[in-house]
Amino acid sequence: MSENPTTFFTVNCAEKFESPNQCYKYFLFLAQDCNFRLINRAVSTAANDPIIGDGLGYFVNHAKYTEYLRTHVSEEEISSCSGFQVLFLANRKRVKGLRTSGVGGVTCARHNMWRPNGIGDLQLGERYCNMDFILFSALLNTILFYLILSYNIACQYGKNFWKRMADLPAEFHINLSPDRVWFKVPNFHLPPHKRPCHSPFSFHFMWGAGRPHGETIEQNWEFTNGAAASTKMMGLGSRASTLEDLFAFS
Ligand SMILES: [Zn+2]
Ligand SMILES: [Zn+2]
Repeated sequence: MSENPTTFFTVNCAEKFESPNQCYKYFLFLAQDCNFRLINRAVSTAANDPIIGDGLGYFVNHAKYTEYLRTHVSEEEISSCSGFQVLFLANRKRVKGLRTSGVGGVTCARHNMWRPNGIGDLQLGERYCNMDFILFSALLNTILFYLILSYNIACQYGKNFWKRMADLPAEFHINLSPDRVWFKVPNFHLPPHKRPCHSPFSFHFMWGAGRPHGETIEQNWEFTNGAAASTKMMGLGSRASTLEDLFAFS
């Protein structure tokens, strides 16, 4: 076979053998969310307590992530449509003395499992720079045909999505036409949005959706929230290893 396997699979399997009305079989449903319980105090140092196997588990590659954030932090933020604005602002407070003010994560919304490289620490509330890096890390080495992204602020996050991707290092870019990336708001989070968001961002009105509610990532957090108090006082490396273990369980 002369073509590379990715091309072969993409072209022959998804496009040639299947009729367009079967393409829902190739949807990848991901869910993205933040958790502000998994905080971490600025104790110990990276030299005393280093991360073992950086980027080999559920956390994004810490070294690359830190480097990216150093150069791409922007204050332009999740403004907004919905009644969540108050919450966003609240999550930006009480960050003094913290190394990490929460974590952002990406799951497969169908199977409730964290994506490899699908979790990253937050430093100041929910910022695009964090969530972009985490999402595109979670898509590394993935053959993509369609991406359906469930996110409680999808109506905002989808704006300038491609422009922001262009700011990431080339290895994180996805090769997918924009009409194959669909942004949706999970069912429970949709009602507080403004009315114009209700139909376009609803799973109920999405062709090929089946019956997902897009909220499954909330269940994943439940597995790790019990460790919030203990991991809060751990050094960088111990906390990462402890959480990696728990993420593998959920
Ligand atoms: Zn899955
Ligand atoms: Zn909205």
